[in-house]
Amino acid sequence: MVLDIVCVPALSDNYIWLAHDPASGETVVVDPAQAAPVDLVLVERGWRLSAIWNTHWHPDHTDGNAELKAAHGVPVIAPAAEAARIPTADRLVAEGDRVMLGDNVATVWETPAHTAGHISYHLAEAGVIFVGDTLFAMGCGRLFEGTAAQMFANMQRYAALPEATRVYCAHEYTESNARFALSRAPEDRALVARMAAVRAARAEGRPTVPTDIGLERATNPFLRARDAAELAELRAAKDGFRG
Ligand SMILES: [Zn+2]
Repeated sequence: MVLDIVCVPALSDNYIWLAHDPASGETVVVDPAQAAPVDLVLVERGWRLSAIWNTHWHPDHTDGNAELKAAHGVPVIAPAAEAARIPTADRLVAEGDRVMLGDNVATVWETPAHTAGHISYHLAEAGVIFVGDTLFAMGCGRLFEGTAAQMFANMQRYAALPEATRVYCAHEYTESNARFALSRAPEDRALVARMAAVRAARAEGRPTVPTDIGLERATNPFLRARDAAELAELRAAKDGFRG
């Protein structure tokens, strides 16, 4: 099950993901902040859009829904718990629901905390997870509508995935996250090495995502938190971090 997954940068630091299944010719877009950059890549690649998947209601993840839906006649899949805030939704999904991309099954995980109804899409056979604004490279999402305990549970769940699982985050926040992680553990060799790689990628204008679970287990302070209290302390410190 090899998927062709393309990064579409949008707004100041959003990443929209296009996932194409060559076997079926189907293509989904995850969290379209905007329609125009998505259409551009679809034309370049000669891909036909099949569906829109949203992880949560924030406008920088859903503002492209209406235009893409109208232009391509495709359904919007969205979290049931956020139906009221995603009026473009056609199919509402919750924990354990299955969404298809060709023959590839994406299982819906409820991963609340950044927003109350935030979901992730896990394609186990492909070894891929779309995590929206819940897990970031070396970071996690802000707790806008949930608790540190919920976010800790999310982190534990992600950490239990196979190490090679590729993690598709919705923002380029890695350098800031790396600075924060290093401020807490300046001697950590894995962090120092990763910061060098991140800086090199950014200097060349390359995205630092996708990441993978193995790398996050080694370098993500939030994924490594021992309990909800530690995650809460880290999140509060990062919220006030100016490094
Ligand atoms: Zn968000």
